[in-house]
Amino acid sequence: MWLIRLYVRVLGQLGSDLKVGAVLSLANIGLAIAAFAEPILFGRIIDRLTGGGAAAAGPVTFSSLLPLLFAWIGFGLFTIGAGVLVALHADRLSHRRRLATMANYFEHVLELPLAFHTSTHSGRVLKVMLEGSNGMAWLWLGFFRDHLAAIVALTILLPLTLFLNWRLGILLVVLVFLFTILTALVLRKTETLQGYVEGFHSRLAEQASDALGNVPVIQSFTRTKAETGQLRSTITQLLAAQTPVLSWWAIASIATRASATLTVTSIFLLGTWLNLTGRATVGDVVMFMSIATMLIGRLEQVVAFVNQLFMQAPKMREFFEILDTAPTVSDRPHAQNIDRFKGEVAFENVSFSYDGKRTAIADVSFSVEAGQTIALVGATGSGKSTTLGLLHRAFDPQSGAIRIDGVDIRDICLASLRRNIGVVFQEPMLFARSIRENLQVGRPDATEAEMMDALERAQALEFIQRQSDGLDSVIGERGRSLSGGERQRLSIARALLKNPPILILDEATSALDATTEKRLQAALIEVMKGRTTFVIAHRLATIRNADRILVFHQSRVVESGTFEELVALDGRFAELARGQFMAPDAAAAGPTARPSLVAVGG
Ligand code: ADP
Ligand code: MG
Repeated sequence: MWLIRLYVRVLGQLGSDLKVGAVLSLANIGLAIAAFAEPILFGRIIDRLTGGGAAAAGPVTFSSLLPLLFAWIGFGLFTIGAGVLVALHADRLSHRRRLATMANYFEHVLELPLAFHTSTHSGRVLKVMLEGSNGMAWLWLGFFRDHLAAIVALTILLPLTLFLNWRLGILLVVLVFLFTILTALVLRKTETLQGYVEGFHSRLAEQASDALGNVPVIQSFTRTKAETGQLRSTITQLLAAQTPVLSWWAIASIATRASATLTVTSIFLLGTWLNLTGRATVGDVVMFMSIATMLIGRLEQVVAFVNQLFMQAPKMREFFEILDTAPTVSDRPHAQNIDRFKGEVAFENVSFSYDGKRTAIADVSFSVEAGQTIALVGATGSGKSTTLGLLHRAFDPQSGAIRIDGVDIRDICLASLRRNIGVVFQEPMLFARSIRENLQVGRPDATEAEMMDALERAQALEFIQRQSDGLDSVIGERGRSLSGGERQRLSIARALLKNPPILILDEATSALDATTEKRLQAALIEVMKGRTTFVIAHRLATIRNADRILVFHQSRVVESGTFEELVALDGRFAELARGQFMAPDAAAAGPTARPSLVAVGG
């Protein structure tokens, strides 16, 4: 059954705490045995005192009782010692493992392909991390505090009571059997429903974090009521699914109670009758009464535990589902570590699709010499970003190969590939940390002077000096306290600090106003020197300075050449040029811009 498999898998996650776990397990087994031994010894002592059972042979003296009393005291002391051990270490262990599992999950998730992150909301990823690891901590704690002792008591020690008095023993076995059936039944009834409940929980997390990430939109479109309404409706659905589950488990717990009372009464009645007919001693009856009370306590624990495990299981299942997602982009066994690339790049018949159905890029081939600047132009959705994403292995192509300095990039270890490629994304993606820490992402050991230099080259110095705390100003979630253009300049500075031989600028200047962009343009030309640079841009000035232009149209490279060559060709590029990037430039530079293109073309 999947619940048991899951349970075993969670217990297998103990990792470096396996030894502590083993010691705690032994302590628990000891505790279970002690819990059984006490009523047995008690029963024997009573038999001696009442002159029942085998003890009837000799006179009862205090010294003849001593071995039994000492054994009893011994078990009592052991129970205290082992109890202290468990109390001290079970909690520590579960806290340690919870945080360790969380860190493993975090690392794993960060390595998962971007495709996973585009399709899974970060709110869900976070919820699964927190709830999954909490669930596991609860399980470990429970296992070392109660479950293991309960399992040992019910599966190993309970059958042994048949040897003590089989008639009374059978009553207990029947009781446990009934409990098992009842619990299994309730599990069956509620399994599917609880799966829905968990789905709703995840949806809640997604909705809430999606809304919290878009507060400005919600406020300006006065959607507060609508968003809250959506959340409430998910809550209503969740409760509708949860209530029947709760009712079933309430029934289970009441039935548990009732059958427990019934069993104790039956043992008493049966025991009395057996005693009167000489088939059980008073000690036997007392012993079975206390074993029954103890077992019932254990059984109630088990039922409560199965109930909770069942509620927590979907959380842990989701956790493992994500943990089992394999990173699609990973190092080959003999991947090379290359210190610094020269910067030659070649695409050979590269095709890629995100979903396996619609092509994002098809049969793209081109080669670039080290140090060149390549502009990628084309309508949105024509495949430019995808092409450059493949270069730093955000994804791997389905067919074709990409080589850097003649080596297939799949034969280069990921870390060295990505260390050699700087990317400035269209969306600047900054951390909610200080400006300094955001820059250090580019190079952890950068000095203050180097940071200032990078900021200056990215035209970012002046607005950072305006910040109250300078480099130590914290810029809010995703850099929200900065304007779009400021964010872009900061992310350019971050890439500059990395000083990579290959640089990718994916619409890195799209949020800048014409004046700033012009100033940055000069800086970027400086930046592009001595490295292979890929730029996706829509403005004439950037494109004009490129050594080569690749024109994308419907997932393919349809033209390639210098600006002059392409204008002379009068094909797709010339058409794009007239319609697209000449327009903003014309607005900024006046009506002379357009004739200048015509002049070049003629
Ligand atoms: P461009 O950068 O030229 O605007 P893209 O390379 O981003 O174009 O997109 C190429 C195609 O791939 C488009 O049809 C786009 O819808 C699709 N696409 C882009 N990113 C993803 C993604 N993460 N998942 C699925 N499809 C995507
Ligand atoms: Mg793009």
